[in-house]
Formats: sequence, C-alpha cells, structure tokens
Amino acid sequence: MTDLNTLTIDSARAAVQQRTTTAMSLVEHHYEKIQHEDGLVGAYLTLCKERAMEQADRMDRMAAEGVELPALGGVPIAIKDVMCAKDVRTTAGSKVLGNFVPPYDCTAVARLEAAGAVVLGKLNCDEFAMGSSNENSAFHPVRNPRDPSRVPGGSSGGSAAAVASDMAVAALGSDTGGSIRQPASFCGVVGLMPTYGRVSRYGLIAFASSLDHIGPLAKNVKDAALVLRTIAGRDPMDSTSAEVPVPDYVAELGKPVRGLKIGVAKEYFGEGLDAEVRTSVEAAIQQLAQLGCEVIPVSLPHTEYAIPTYYIVATAEASANLARYDGVRYGYRSKSARTLSDMYRRTRDEGFGAEVKRRIMLGTYALSAGYYDAYYLKAQKVRTLLTRDFEEAFRKVDAIVTPTCPTAAFKLGEKVNDPLAMYLADIYTVTADLAGIPGISIPCGETKEKLPIGLQILGKHFAEATILRLAHAYEESAAKP
Ligand code: GLN
Repeated sequence: MTDLNTLTIDSARAAVQQRTTTAMSLVEHHYEKIQHEDGLVGAYLTLCKERAMEQADRMDRMAAEGVELPALGGVPIAIKDVMCAKDVRTTAGSKVLGNFVPPYDCTAVARLEAAGAVVLGKLNCDEFAMGSSNENSAFHPVRNPRDPSRVPGGSSGGSAAAVASDMAVAALGSDTGGSIRQPASFCGVVGLMPTYGRVSRYGLIAFASSLDHIGPLAKNVKDAALVLRTIAGRDPMDSTSAEVPVPDYVAELGKPVRGLKIGVAKEYFGEGLDAEVRTSVEAAIQQLAQLGCEVIPVSLPHTEYAIPTYYIVATAEASANLARYDGVRYGYRSKSARTLSDMYRRTRDEGFGAEVKRRIMLGTYALSAGYYDAYYLKAQKVRTLLTRDFEEAFRKVDAIVTPTCPTAAFKLGEKVNDPLAMYLADIYTVTADLAGIPGISIPCGETKEKLPIGLQILGKHFAEATILRLAHAYEESAAKP
C-alpha cells in the first residue's frame, strides 16, 4: 500500500510503474489535499488540473503498456510562480502580472515534464521573489506548515510549504539571495541552489539577472539530485547557461565522504546567531567529522559586506528588469489614466507593492549618474572580493558548512515593518549568490519549539555533486538512531 503522504520521487514513480497506484490517483490525492489544507497554508496560487491530468494519463498509459517510465514519470510536482508555464497564469506574486498567461514554457518546467513529471500548479511567492517571509505576495501570505503562526520563509515560501505539507512531492524555487535555501530551512525540507549558469533561466521572470538561480526543493537529498539532473545543462535559449557537462548526481551520491575537507568560517557563527541554531549546526559538523570528513577552519573576511553589496546589486538589476512592466505589452494596465505617461505612472503605482517600489527606487538611485561609482561600481568590486574569499577558502577545502539562517522561522508580522531586519534573514545565504557558487540547505535539527533548523553546505563552482554527497551522507547518518 502506498503511503501517499510520504511519497518521494522514487516511491511515486515506482508505484505508478508497478501499477500499485496510478499517476491519476496521485494527482487526485494531491488536489484533494490542496483543497482541504491549502486554505490554511496558502501555498498555491493557480492549479493547472487539465495539464496535470493529461500528463498523468500519458504516464499511466505508458505504465499499462509496460514501458519504462522516465525518471520523474508520474511524480506530482509544483512550480514557483516566477517560472512561465504555457497557457497557465504566471504572476510572480504580483498584481502587475495578475492576468499574465505566458505563451511558452520555462526551460526547467519543460525539462521536468519531458522527464514525466506532473505539474500540479503554481506556487505562491514574494512579489518578484523579493522577500524573506512570503508576506510580500500580492495575493496572500503563506503559513509555515510546521507552525501556522510563523512564516515559511521566502521568497520561495509556497514551494517549501507545499513540499513540507505533502501538497507536492517536490517543487521548483528560485534563489537570488537565499530564496530556496532559507525557506527550505524554515520548513524543514531540502533546498538546493545550483551554480550560476547550471540551470537555464529561460522563462524565469527576472529579478536580478546576475544572481537568479532555479533549483529544487524536495523531501530528501536524493530527490533534489534527481530534479537537478533533470533540469541542469546548457540551453540555447539562455546564453548564460553553462556548457559544462551534467554529472549523474544521483549515482554520485553513493561515493564515500571520508577524507573530504570541510571548512568552517567563524564569520558565519558570530553575533546574531541564535543559540539553538548554533548548537544544532555544530552538532551536524561533528557528525560529518565522525563520517570521516576533516574539519578545517577557513576565513571569509569580507562576509560582513555581503548584505549591503547584495542590496545594491540586486536592486540595481531589479530596477532595470522591472522597467518592462509599463502597462503596454502585457500585464496590468491602470484604467484611470488619461495620457500615456499618466498610464505608465498609474500602472506601476497600482501594480507594484511597497517592497518592489522600495527596491526600484533604491536601484534607480544606485545606478544614477552621480552615484553609480559610489554605489554600484563599489558593490561590484566588493562582489569580486567576496568571490575571491571563497576561491581562497576552496583551495583548502572541498565544501564550507554554515547555518542556513541565523534563526528558525519567525512569526508572521514580526518583521514586516522593519525591512532591514528582514534583509538580515539572508545574511548567510547571499554570499553564495554573489559568488555564483552552489549551496544546499538540509534539516539538521529542531528548536525546543519544534521549529526546523537548516544546515547549509556550500561548494565550488559546478561541484553540486560534492555538496549533494555530503548532504546525503549527513542525512543518512542523522536518520540512524
Ligand atoms: N530575501 C532576499 C531578497 O529579498 C532574497 C530573495 C531571493 O533570493 N529571491 O532579496
């Protein structure tokens, strides 16, 4: 009997393949669960039932004919609503795209479907992926399934919550400053941000193009590896997608971790780190040492500049990317305008939320003639220093282990009126985005209040296989009593 609430990619696919269940009944089960439970959680913005059922039917017919299903055959997954899906409303969590129905698929979505995955729908997120709590969604917030009085993290809050509450077997999220890893940490699931360029961004609604990454949120490390293997690799539609061959991440999980060198940087264990989070992460590092990893102190001296650097670069790029929402080509258009310029102004005023406006203003300021050198150029230089810190450290170690976030999930409303406090939720995650290196967050314990704590493992460029392997070894050892 298949337990529908603890499905993983392998168990779902195997059940469909062996006909102990059907892809169609998995879809129905998930939609029922969404109907009953998502009223409270708020993870989904749009369901695409017809599309899901067509794909499920295709997989069921293959299974009935005894044909071997592809790697994600019949597996119900869901997509953060910043990725386009043909003929399915795609909002980026914004009113400005509230009625946008794209005429094409995001490459990552298309690759999942080509591998047999069944797309259930589109997941809630902070508007244009700007936020750390999902409270910036123009539609409704998402609640943390582990404690509904708390946020699920952001901006991929819907993705983490859907996976944590078994309303999807896995999900895609996007990470610009931490938006896959931080919500994964808050909701107790696995979240992987690949190297910049590892996964095509074609069809991803742009926030900050030099920082945006698509990656999986999943119930375990192997599922994350399966999804990454499916979506990674060069795409002619995205010139920044890398020509680097894609290893078999799943096969690589089995390699031993003994002898791997893991770096611990004191900059990630300083002021502001919650005591319970520190204890859990330190215990996880001990655990890795027991598995035969060598723990080595490393230094990342420019870390304190990461948040200001990120908020200059990200807002500058966002201000340019968001200029396209003018009410002319697509999306929301103000009805009350009388002239063209009035239409632009009102469309943007009515269409964007407060955080998005704040960032457009910050970014426009940082790029303006008199301030460009002082802010944007300076930030780019510091970004190089942050990248060099990692290069230096990775001469000595294979991976760097840190807490994913300084605290566990906070309460809804706790930080909404204090943007700076909200920005600090990303203090341990933005550095990897700025340097373009991969990072994974895996659950490593709980607070006394039973809130999940995340362990972050950062790797060298294109060394996803190494961090997945370490994460997998840790996960296996932690599962043993
Ligand atoms: N929380 C960060 C921000 O608000 C990161 C967002 C993201 O990674 N998309 O910009």
